[in-house]
Amino acid sequence: MNLEQKETLRQRIQETITRCKEDIMRLEKSASPIAPDKALGRLTRMDSLNDQGISKAALSQNQDKFYKLEQALDLIDRPEFGDCATCRSPISIERLMVLPESTRCVNCASK
Ligand SMILES: [Zn+2]
Repeated sequence: MNLEQKETLRQRIQETITRCKEDIMRLEKSASPIAPDKALGRLTRMDSLNDQGISKAALSQNQDKFYKLEQALDLIDRPEFGDCATCRSPISIERLMVLPESTRCVNCASK
């Protein structure tokens, strides 16, 4: 990875963190418990309980991603940044641009 690629990637990570934060805030709202006295019809209430479950799963996924992105941003200036955590070979820049939170190369991640 050259310097230019690293800077592009750094920006990319920061952008992704911002988006991820927004998603977390939005999901935290929809994952919060539904007040029992909320005037909802039976079906509507079941729908919103369903949505709530989905939001919770999406929320923990996003929190996980957020944590990994912050970690990537911390590590980006280290010489070993971008190396696969499993086989130590460099992760392709294309992969890092799409999934900046990747810590494994495409081969190891698909195993
Ligand atoms: Zn690997």
